[in-house]
Amino acid sequence: MKKCVVIGGGFAGLSAACFLSNLGFQVELIEASNKLGGRAYSFFDKENDTMIDNGQHILMGCYKETLEFIKLINAEENFLYRKNLEVNFLAPDFRLKKLKIPSLPYPINLLFGLLTFDAISFIDRLKVIRFFLAIPFYSDWRLKKLSAYQWLLLEKQNERIRKALWDFLIIGALNTNPQKASAKVFKDILIQIFFKGNKASTIILPRHGLSECYCNNAQRFIEDKGCRIILSETVKEFVIDEKRITKLITDKRTIEQFDYVITAVPLYSLTKILPASINSSLPELHYSPILNIHIWLKENRLQKPFYGLIGSHVHWIFNHPTHITIVISDADEGIEKDKNELFDLVLKELSKYAGIKKEDVASFKVIKEKRATFIPDNNSLNKRASITTPFTNLILAGDWIDTGLPSTIEGAVKSGRTAAELVKQS
Ligand SMILES: Cc1cc2nc3c(=O)[nH]c(=O)nc-3n(C[C@H](O)[C@H](O)[C@H](O)COP(=O)(O)OP(=O)(O)OC[C@H]3O[C@@H](n4cnc5c(N)ncnc54)[C@H](O)[C@@H]3O)c2cc1C
Repeated sequence: MKKCVVIGGGFAGLSAACFLSNLGFQVELIEASNKLGGRAYSFFDKENDTMIDNGQHILMGCYKETLEFIKLINAEENFLYRKNLEVNFLAPDFRLKKLKIPSLPYPINLLFGLLTFDAISFIDRLKVIRFFLAIPFYSDWRLKKLSAYQWLLLEKQNERIRKALWDFLIIGALNTNPQKASAKVFKDILIQIFFKGNKASTIILPRHGLSECYCNNAQRFIEDKGCRIILSETVKEFVIDEKRITKLITDKRTIEQFDYVITAVPLYSLTKILPASINSSLPELHYSPILNIHIWLKENRLQKPFYGLIGSHVHWIFNHPTHITIVISDADEGIEKDKNELFDLVLKELSKYAGIKKEDVASFKVIKEKRATFIPDNNSLNKRASITTPFTNLILAGDWIDTGLPSTIEGAVKSGRTAAELVKQS
């Protein structure tokens, strides 16, 4: 039986390990930290007696690879699926605006949903529909030269439309602002979400803490197949002959018995393992932070599962049974602020949009993810690394690999599954 070492236990590493162990390979997954999940995990917050996520994550109906992975590891019931897209937006003073796609045949329902989106005027809704109709006719070549913002201006999407709709999609899905985001990447996600049938645009939420939703199932799946997961062990170095990785040196041992190695670590971790001569051929990506502020309220009057805040630098409120989670994406400005400063900033917005005051808050916790995702600007398009390497037994995975997808769970899972397929074929 061929043996594959998978380095990294985030979505990419877990998907590679699950698909490979399912194919009958002997897999050993090595993870540096003392838990699985990488950038998408949960932990028990003793102070507030609650399981919380490092950051709120959502999946979408168009996450085909992720949904297959979740099915494989028997974790489908850990997620909450909806039949149609429904997003509730808040304007100041608790004014609720809805984008709701009704249960009609696709794409009539999409058209109907856009025509009834009451955060913008009727004329603006028609402008949005006109833009939708123009999207497929833009060539990738042309869009690779534009930012999402420039494209929206070209398509006469005014500030009202951008604030109430496009900014949410771009900042939410790409974790960067429209001025930086590549118009090509923006087009790709619009096609994935809105042009692939009704299910593609639906939002899927984890029912429990993230680790409980997929890490535990993935671990069980891998171990039931007779494979191993090793935590708290860091791969430090590769020993390489001309064409192959011959040894892996970790902080605990030297590993020599393997046929293949899949690395599923972020680019900034990989460059520490690879020899300097190879590092020079790897791309240089730039990263964007995400802030999550978890707030425990004395009394929670919010009704909907989540809200987008129109025109605010605080982007989303997610409503959990025990607490609410405030998400600030593209958070370059907030990342250096201390937790009290951030809390005050968030509270100002919560007061303005949802009437939540300081005296309503029992407790809060700030979690900063500095390098949450890489920035999908036009520069990054040609820089993402291929899954294959000059070494016959080394394959790269991770959300930064050139999967054609932005830095998301779907990109990570796709890279892991593709890496497993490559091992199977070689
Ligand atoms: C706050 C936040 C919110 C997000 N929201 C969303 C969302 O809503 N939807 C979405 O699709 N995506 C979202 N993302 C992005 C998503 O989390 C990532 O794209 C995805 O988790 C990346 O998975 P990965 O396996 O490629 O990398 P990682 O999750 O970074 O996993 C890499 C793993 O490798 C390990 N490792 C590193 N070096 C070594 C070494 N030398 N030896 C052994 N192990 C090593 C690390 O400890 C880590 O566990 C969000 C990210 C953040 C941070």
